[in-house]
Amino acid sequence: METPDKPPPPKSFGNMGENHWSRARADQNTEALEYYRERSRAPGVAEGGGPRNMYCMQCDGVIPFDPPAVACPHCGTAVEGDAKRYFNWVELDRAPRSDWKALWPFVAGAAALLVLLGVAAWIFFRGGGTA
Ligand SMILES: [Zn+2]
Repeated sequence: METPDKPPPPKSFGNMGENHWSRARADQNTEALEYYRERSRAPGVAEGGGPRNMYCMQCDGVIPFDPPAVACPHCGTAVEGDAKRYFNWVELDRAPRSDWKALWPFVAGAAALLVLLGVAAWIFFRGGGTA
């Protein structure tokens, strides 16, 4: 996105000149570049890894996704909780282990309704049988 008051940078054609993006943007995004350089120095990054690594919340080290690790192989911090840190996102929305907590009131209500219907039917048919 170009800002309206700033002219677009000159196009670069042919051999790599001063207008080539790698030179024209030399001093831009230094904070992001330093962040990625720091991430490249994290433990386990140079050794590579699987296609879907996780990263340690403490030391930024690579944690293999499969098989699931219980602790960081670099600093030993336990991998726990529902937050998993991947390269450029943190995954929080994993499915809960059980729906029982949300569903038990409906199950209890249905069981109570069944008991009430059973008692009502018993009273109705018992009364109807003796009359
Ligand atoms: Zn770690």
